[in-house]
Amino acid sequence: MKANYHTHTMRCHHAVGTEREYIEKAIEAGMEELGFSDHVPYRFPGFQSRIRMAMEELPEYISVLSVLREEYKKDIKIYIGFEAEYFPELFDGLLEELSEYPYDYLLLGQHFLEPEPMGLYTGSAVRSEGELQRYVDLSLEGLSTGKFLYMAHPDLVNYIGPEHIYRKHMKRLCEGAKRCGIPLEINFTGYLERRNYPCARFFQIVSEVGNPVIFGCDAHYPEVLARKELEDYGMKIVREFHLKLLEAMKIGS
Ligand SMILES: [Zn+2]
Ligand SMILES: [Zn+2]
Repeated sequence: MKANYHTHTMRCHHAVGTEREYIEKAIEAGMEELGFSDHVPYRFPGFQSRIRMAMEELPEYISVLSVLREEYKKDIKIYIGFEAEYFPELFDGLLEELSEYPYDYLLLGQHFLEPEPMGLYTGSAVRSEGELQRYVDLSLEGLSTGKFLYMAHPDLVNYIGPEHIYRKHMKRLCEGAKRCGIPLEINFTGYLERRNYPCARFFQIVSEVGNPVIFGCDAHYPEVLARKELEDYGMKIVREFHLKLLEAMKIGS
């Protein structure tokens, strides 16, 4: 892999490893670009999330990465980003707070259908079309803001109802992403942990719609960046579904 833009750190409380450890592992793996995309510090009214850094911890994330980006610049290109859900009621406020900081990109990772703590985890098995529809509607609204670089684990939604309903909505997602020029991720941590994604039924639709795809390690520990079998797995999907693979993204001007 030449580049990976989906990297977490211990700051989100459910990943391990410092920024430096991830950088050194990426260099060891021969990567040319490493983007950090730790879970964005949303402020939920009256609730402190335990799966993301707090807003107060954000300055240190930015400053540590800024120093390391300089220190390692001869070896690897470092980007500073976040993985963020799109919550319409909170998104503008989030962008406003982030605008104080020099970050490079956001990935859309729609882990919840409503803000925490009330929101249903998107990867929970659901039978109702309503949840699937909500996932696709929210994601498309998010992508249409133009604020996202790509969509992480687009097939996170775990719909177990009729297949034609899945296809109807996920085709809308793929077509909308294509209109917005947003690539879709093949997520390696989902594969590693045998989650419901990446899934063949989704990449069949991606193939039909013709979306570009990109590999994302979604690293929650540094070693994930250097596991060659993950890239082999990704290439298998690319070949099986004749997908257009992007090796790297253009970030910034
Ligand atoms: Zn995570
Ligand atoms: Zn992630």
